[in-house]
Amino acid sequence: MTEIETKNGDILVYGLAANETVRCMAAITTNTIAEAATRHKTSATATAALGRTMTGALLLGASLKELDRLTVQIIGDGPIGGISAESNAKGEVRGYVRNPNAESPFNEKGKLDVRGIVGNGMFYVMREAGFEIGFRPEPYQGSVPIVSGEIAEDFAYYLTTSEQIPSGVLLGVHVRGDKDSGGMIVTAAGGVMIQMMPGADEKTIGEIEHAITNTTQSVTDMIHNGASAEYLIRAALGTIEFSILEKRNVRFTCQCSHERAVSMVGALDTAEIQSMLSEDKGAVITCHFCNETYIIDEAMLGKVFRERSSI
Ligand code: ZN
Repeated sequence: MTEIETKNGDILVYGLAANETVRCMAAITTNTIAEAATRHKTSATATAALGRTMTGALLLGASLKELDRLTVQIIGDGPIGGISAESNAKGEVRGYVRNPNAESPFNEKGKLDVRGIVGNGMFYVMREAGFEIGFRPEPYQGSVPIVSGEIAEDFAYYLTTSEQIPSGVLLGVHVRGDKDSGGMIVTAAGGVMIQMMPGADEKTIGEIEHAITNTTQSVTDMIHNGASAEYLIRAALGTIEFSILEKRNVRFTCQCSHERAVSMVGALDTAEIQSMLSEDKGAVITCHFCNETYIIDEAMLGKVFRERSSI
């Protein structure tokens, strides 16, 4: 396997272990999560919640095929309101939270209290194939209750319960205050996921469970110390050998565009377009996923209106 260049250093790797009875994937997502935090102006704890969910969506989607897309939604009753993340086979990921300002005091371990802003609710996963080319077979959807709210445990519970794949998941996002900007900086983000497929023997499962529960360092500590994605897998697998099958660059990417914003407005009621035209002299569309704003001026909106009303 040839090493691939990563523009921002972020990467997703996918491999197999124990005679292909164990799937392993790991990701370094520091820059991707930093971009998500900048775009959405998330608080420290909301950044951790969003970053863990986006990294989990990448890991869960590590075996996606070319036209597949995976969405994870966590809807709880905590102040963050909801978290969405979407990944595809190209290593592209995007995500947002309903309330980016949600914040909570540190928990009893002195850590960001992600559970405190997520609350109780449901964890959803949706897998779609061929969405971008208009081919939409019934999407696969699974859901489980939120059992932890710390996100990694929720991914593991989802896989074990809904997909019958016993799994170990570690996810981490580390932020620190930036005294120059008064804001904060994402200094490390990433995660590792180990999936036990049918046929995995008890000894292997036991060894992996032991390795995961006894990792002395957190994922973010390992990344701070320069750990690669392969190193994270090594830490989670103990002495079990593995081979990497695939590596992908990872980046925050959104599929929105000015053209799409215009066609979204074009899909509204004629009366609604009329009122945007007469009252606002245009339209401003903000993409949920990336917080990009598109301005549709009066001339363009007038054109949309004429096309819409001539249907
Ligand atoms: Zn967007």
